[in-house]
Amino acid sequence: MSERTKIAILGSTGSVGVQALDLIAQFPNRFEVVALAAGSRLDLLGEQVRRFRPHLAALAREEKLSALQAICEPLGIAAVVGEEGLVQAATHPEADRVLSAIVGAAGLQPTLAAIRGRKIVALANKETLVMAGQLMLSEAQRSNALLLPVDSEHSALHQCLRGERREEVNRLILTASGGPFRLASREEMEAAGPQEALKHPTWDMGPKISIDSATLMNKGLEIIEAHWLFGIESSRIQVLLHPQSLVHSMVEMRDGSVICQMGTTDMRGPILYSLTYPDRWESPLPRLDLAAAPPLEFSEPDALRFPCLGLALGALEAGGTATAALNAANEVAVAAFLAGRVRFLDIPRTIEKVLEKHAPIPADSLAVVLQADQESRRWAEEILMKGVAA
Ligand code: NAD
Ligand code: MG
Repeated sequence: MSERTKIAILGSTGSVGVQALDLIAQFPNRFEVVALAAGSRLDLLGEQVRRFRPHLAALAREEKLSALQAICEPLGIAAVVGEEGLVQAATHPEADRVLSAIVGAAGLQPTLAAIRGRKIVALANKETLVMAGQLMLSEAQRSNALLLPVDSEHSALHQCLRGERREEVNRLILTASGGPFRLASREEMEAAGPQEALKHPTWDMGPKISIDSATLMNKGLEIIEAHWLFGIESSRIQVLLHPQSLVHSMVEMRDGSVICQMGTTDMRGPILYSLTYPDRWESPLPRLDLAAAPPLEFSEPDALRFPCLGLALGALEAGGTATAALNAANEVAVAAFLAGRVRFLDIPRTIEKVLEKHAPIPADSLAVVLQADQESRRWAEEILMKGVAA
């Protein structure tokens, strides 16, 4: 039997993490889980530890160390906590591949550690590239680490670009479902609460990315993600609404040919691709039945109802730390919206105000990125406290 692929999962208790483990369980002879890391859900992490028997389990919440030890130690599994614990999971010497699926800025340092540790990094956590794309790419180049996208659109682009010459690419076309407010009026969006905003029409995802999909900030973050992953400037990245979510993205070549990748709306497809690349395995997942599929529609997004798209593009064009400021302001505003503290359209308003205040500088060190992140979080909190309209 050939060696099993040894995997560390950061964010194992989240939507992506749980789906990855579901897949891994279907290939017991080909995958082995060597490390699991999560934020605070000790109950679910404990279940996963008992089932997958990694060498190491990490939890961000330090106060839960003794409870984690009580689960791990009888099984001979190391229990670690805090940021240092996450980094230990990300750099576990046994791990060949690291699935980076923590949500938000909390994933940055462990993901950078995995890159510096020369791992193959399957990247779901797009916020890390938005905050520190330049730094992650230069570190990956220096350590010869491979970054593979998990995000379905970027997985699609990666698949479309296999074997193509970069200079022959005209543009990337990212598809977006349009989220729950694709057809809503501005008034309806103004009045929407977390329940309506969390109802994604085609994908079942964690709460933060579901809100990002409703504001279309998710697509804004994905433009920035595509810029770094594929080295294409923003003017050559287009967004098209495609409510059926079956075409996961497209590449237009310079001769006018458009190459697309299609699949069911099941994240386990792109997750499997990122865990097996450059191979493709016989997959147990349901197949796309095109004869039974609805007609495929494509249209331009409405920039007025979805200002987050323009804010993300503006930050990418401003360059340097501007995208770290964008990400920080978005994380704070989305958390406040989910907590019922602010209205839906206060999310773009807060981000716009933070970006007005932020003076970007080159994002060439972790310290600079973290400083911009912290400062922008403080400003976003202040703006929300005073009332966004003030
Ligand atoms: P989620 O909220 O369901 O899960 C997040 C995971 O991160 C959990 O395991 C949680 O414990 C962990 N976490 C949260 N805060 C942490 C902290 N401070 N320290 C350590 N761990 C922490 O999120 P998700 O939907 O699985 O998304 C994960 C990432 O993947 C996001 O960046 C998201 O944008 C991206 N992504 C998700 C999907 C999807 O279908 N869910 C699709 C594409 C991209
Ligand atoms: Mg996506």
